[in-house]
Amino acid sequence: MTKTNTTPMMVQYQKIKDQYPDAFLFYRLGDFYEMFNEDAVKGSQLLELTLTTRSHSAKNPIPMCGVPHKAVQNYIDILVDQGYKVAVCEQMEDPKLAKGMVKREVIQLVTPGTQTDTGAAGAKRNNYLTALTMSTKSQYGLAYTDLSTGELKAAEISGDDPVMNELMSLQTKEVVVDTTIDDELKARMKQLGMMISNQDEIQSSSELSYVEQDLQTDLLKQVVGVLVTYVTVTQKRSLAHLQRAVAYRPTAFLKMDHSSQSNLEITQNLRTKKKSGTLLWLLDQTKTAMGGRLLKQWLDRPLIDRQQIEERQDKVGALLDHYFERNNLQEELVKVYDLERLAGRVAFGSVNGRDLIQLQTSLEQVPQIQHTIEELDEPVFDDTLAGLDPVEDVAAAIREAIVPEPPISVSDGGVIRDGFNAQLDEYRDAMRNGKTWLAEMEAHEREVTGINNLKIGYNHVFGYYIEVTKVNLDKLPADRYERKQTLANAERFSTPELKDKERLILEAEEKSVALEYKLFVDLREQVKLAITRLQKLAAAIASLDVLQSFAVVSEDYHFIKPTLIEGHNLAIKQGRHPVVEKVLGRQSYVPNDVMMDEQTNILLITGPNMSGKSTYMRQLALTVIMAQMGCFVPAESAQMPIFDQIFTRIGAADDLISGQSTFMVEMQEANHALSQATANSLILFDEIGRGTATYDGMALAQAIIEYVHNRVHAKTLFSTHYHELTALDQSLKQLRNVHVGAVERDGDLVFLHQMQPGPADKSYGIHVAKLAGMPTKLLDRAEVILEDLEQSAEDQPLSTPETAQAPIQTAPTASESTAPVQEQPAETVKPEPAVSEPTPEPSEPA
Ligand code: ADP
Repeated sequence: MTKTNTTPMMVQYQKIKDQYPDAFLFYRLGDFYEMFNEDAVKGSQLLELTLTTRSHSAKNPIPMCGVPHKAVQNYIDILVDQGYKVAVCEQMEDPKLAKGMVKREVIQLVTPGTQTDTGAAGAKRNNYLTALTMSTKSQYGLAYTDLSTGELKAAEISGDDPVMNELMSLQTKEVVVDTTIDDELKARMKQLGMMISNQDEIQSSSELSYVEQDLQTDLLKQVVGVLVTYVTVTQKRSLAHLQRAVAYRPTAFLKMDHSSQSNLEITQNLRTKKKSGTLLWLLDQTKTAMGGRLLKQWLDRPLIDRQQIEERQDKVGALLDHYFERNNLQEELVKVYDLERLAGRVAFGSVNGRDLIQLQTSLEQVPQIQHTIEELDEPVFDDTLAGLDPVEDVAAAIREAIVPEPPISVSDGGVIRDGFNAQLDEYRDAMRNGKTWLAEMEAHEREVTGINNLKIGYNHVFGYYIEVTKVNLDKLPADRYERKQTLANAERFSTPELKDKERLILEAEEKSVALEYKLFVDLREQVKLAITRLQKLAAAIASLDVLQSFAVVSEDYHFIKPTLIEGHNLAIKQGRHPVVEKVLGRQSYVPNDVMMDEQTNILLITGPNMSGKSTYMRQLALTVIMAQMGCFVPAESAQMPIFDQIFTRIGAADDLISGQSTFMVEMQEANHALSQATANSLILFDEIGRGTATYDGMALAQAIIEYVHNRVHAKTLFSTHYHELTALDQSLKQLRNVHVGAVERDGDLVFLHQMQPGPADKSYGIHVAKLAGMPTKLLDRAEVILEDLEQSAEDQPLSTPETAQAPIQTAPTASESTAPVQEQPAETVKPEPAVSEPTPEPSEPA
């Protein structure tokens, strides 16, 4: 755009804008933030603002739009939520006092990952900003932080997929990268809607050396450096609440890839993308925002360390046993505000009087919480008690200084208590005295003039005045009264005495407001020194909150404490899918056992569609996750090993993002599981092979089962509609058939949702079609075709017994040299025909 009419202001604007080419520049102009040029055109559309122009007369008018400064946060949020950056440019000096152009500077760059004012909706969610860098050995360093809470963690990860997986699990909206990250990976991140921010220069700052302190490797230091530098550069404000970076190993937790997490609907409903209907939704009886966020973190990262799990279980057990104390605890937790985010606001300097009162109220709950926990008298809570520091000095300081109901603004006075500061009290006295004096003056003036409706008032422009209605003007003596303002039916005057008092009052007011602000800032700085202690307290309370939430749901939904055993014996009696059960109601849900002893690694599940196969599989996965996060589980009894990883391939999730075919995704996910799973893993394969032609799919399914059986040895649930596969129990010793019972009643199909031993005996496809209301004629015809097919299949087996049994041609290792197939007499296996799909040339009925 040519700028023929460049004014000094536009020169300044452009200079600043050039530093933030990829952000909307909100340029402060009096009471507005203005956008110009392209920003204005695009901004006016996105924010539904009126687009105007500056310099009407000029040949090239400049497009312009603005938002009022008081409402700016709303507009920033809208843009940032849509994936844009906003640079907030302030006036750095009072325009009245400025010589020449008012100095302006960008005071903050708000980006999706650095947004901290997420409002009530975001209270129970973390907003993670992530940084990524790569070492010379192709190892990734990944660090993330939530700026509102100060949490900061870092890990070393190898491989693109694990990195992408971690990013997705964190639901990060913005990734800061340096030059070591290649374009391909960046493109993958962008595809998933993540914003990529480049941070090329790494400069050390004092914050950096603090947060870095506990990190062991150069790579971790490097990536935390990238992250903190970016944050420092964009935020330009105190980051005193950034916690020391904690290194974590993704392998120290139960590993689940993102697609499994999303398939199992742990924190996000597959259809609605919301919390409702998820495991998180079911388990969340937390009373604080901190607890809510921690619960989500625990769900994302269940444990694998027995001792840690059992410690949580013991705490849940104790809270479950003490109903009275648990109730007290809940009532106390309700009164605890978001200490983590309050600490963050203290650090940012954006805290106000009300926030401090919230902090005080929260801290005042701590002694009672302590008391409640002591009453439990359970040694397992000793560490919790140690963490419950009431930070009494801070509570006391706030109590002394701040009025119980302070205004929102910290710069208009009314925040500090009387009696807190002698000087402030003096100013306030002067103000109060002044006002008494004015009242006396008003009475006096009425008396001497005889004007009964004479009054003394105040307005912003003219200050204090004496108002006399026009009819009474002639009663006013001519001398002392100086005319200030004329109204329709009154005149306003001042007198030397009034002016004098006015000066005193206004001065006292001004000084008192300034002093209050200073006292407030002093207090804020004092609180800032306690940030680390506040964060420790917040952590203790958050974990207590999650544990009580576990106790509540365990009681409400009749969960029991699972026993974690060594070895591979999985025995769940009368297990339930907790979310389906909640939705259907306890009466309607049919519980099921999952029995897989040391000798059973694969359950092959057959049964009609909609009978409950996938619910059964999900039920097991959720039970494992709940157990390993320390929660109780929905069952009558449960004995289980600690799993290292969960792999799922469950039908419903279409991979919309990558645009690959469902079958390709299915194969990729299956491959991932087969290559990564260990004997300590859990695999759930739902109808693998369904996405391709019948024989093709069946062959793959069988080969996959054999591979898992012979090589992986993971506990595996495999559901299939290939009835033929049920014959595998003859050849694979560690495989057992189970099926979901269904009965036909009056020609209709009734699902029992009950797992029973052995294979399902018949395909129910036609019955399901009937249930769906298909025309009777069509159904009759299908019956005829089915009979034909069964007939011809008997004449011509789909696969010989040998091929049905032969294990997949992989080079067996020494331990696998006894392929189970050879131990079975071939004659015992009679393959069933495929009935779910017609063969290419169905024969016509006679
Ligand atoms: P499949 O995988 O066999 O097609 P699903 O597992 O999707 O079947 O289950 C279909 C429906 O049956 C579920 O939506 C649920 O409402 C119901 N259902 C499944 N298992 C049970 C159960 N154990 N008790 C009661 N209802 C169940």
